[in-house]
Amino acid sequence: MKVDRTIKLRLRLNEIDEPKLKETIMMYNKAVNIAANYGFEHHTSSKIIIHHATYYSIREQFPELNSSLVQAARDVAAEALKGVKLKILPVAKPLAAARFNQRTLRVVLKHMFATMSTIAGRIEATYTIPEYYSKYLNWSVQSSTIKYIQQKNEFWLHLVMRTESPKQSGNKVLGIDRGIVNVAVCSNNKFFNGFQIKAVRAKYAYIRQKLQSKGTKSAKQLLKKISGKERRFVKDVNHCISKEIVAMPYNVFALEDLTSIRVQTRRGKNFTRKLNNWSFYQLEQFIRYKAEAVGKLVITVDPRFSSQKCSRCGNILKENRNGNAYRCHNCGLQLHADLNAARNIAQSGTSCLSRLPVNQPNVVSI
Ligand SMILES: [Zn+2]
Repeated sequence: MKVDRTIKLRLRLNEIDEPKLKETIMMYNKAVNIAANYGFEHHTSSKIIIHHATYYSIREQFPELNSSLVQAARDVAAEALKGVKLKILPVAKPLAAARFNQRTLRVVLKHMFATMSTIAGRIEATYTIPEYYSKYLNWSVQSSTIKYIQQKNEFWLHLVMRTESPKQSGNKVLGIDRGIVNVAVCSNNKFFNGFQIKAVRAKYAYIRQKLQSKGTKSAKQLLKKISGKERRFVKDVNHCISKEIVAMPYNVFALEDLTSIRVQTRRGKNFTRKLNNWSFYQLEQFIRYKAEAVGKLVITVDPRFSSQKCSRCGNILKENRNGNAYRCHNCGLQLHADLNAARNIAQSGTSCLSRLPVNQPNVVSI
């Protein structure tokens, strides 16, 4: 399985070179617009047709622009036309990100160095690679763009890095139940409690309420600030939990499908709260992202009855569940309600896997 990740590096340039790169980006975007105009007027998104019709006139108009950049501009225009199905004319802003290729941009990541073509010759740039990008250094560079941010006068290099994730074999499924009291409970008895999140969110909710009743301008500014703080905190927690979960010795992670509409009436107030909680989606997203990178699979299962059903005998009875406690009236099983749900999710995941077609990408030979 191919895995792509974008890394963003701030370029450090010589002062004399900055205007060269900026003008290159502007000229490149003019070329994009010429190519897009032609395609739109002639109702085509074919790179070959647009190339034949515009390449030489663009080269004539902008002789300083490297031929590879002219070709990149034409590709970008053709892809944009295709993207909008030729219905509207795509227009590149004067300083939109410019696409470079191996000829026009050479990056040597381990030396934190790059050279690139501009309208006034080749220039050099350096950058620093933050520690959290270090794991991508031996991936291959798939594509690169340079973006100029006018307000800050900064150039940013965006690199799409690619690797082939290792194929996993086996179908050991871990069920994960997301909740409010416990952020996540896994079918292998691992609990990630949410006391910390709950305390922080309650604190912010209290401050928010006080500020909202004030309604002044400074109160509004403060509100915005604390909501950012809260989000960053929850994000950190979700990163840590997802990292730990994905590292567990399982190949498949099963979660409840929160987007399934028919489930909403089946489960009570608690479930509706889950649906409205962005942090649950974020946790899922992080698990997917991290699992993908190591060739593991994430599946979602029908959430109906996962909290009512007995994970041992399959008996479904609403009364079996009482708050945090699950006690089966049929077989006598007693355990934490979230753990019971996580085990049901794991079981649904296992039966869901067996129904997948054999050649499903990613589903591994057993
Ligand atoms: Zn039972």
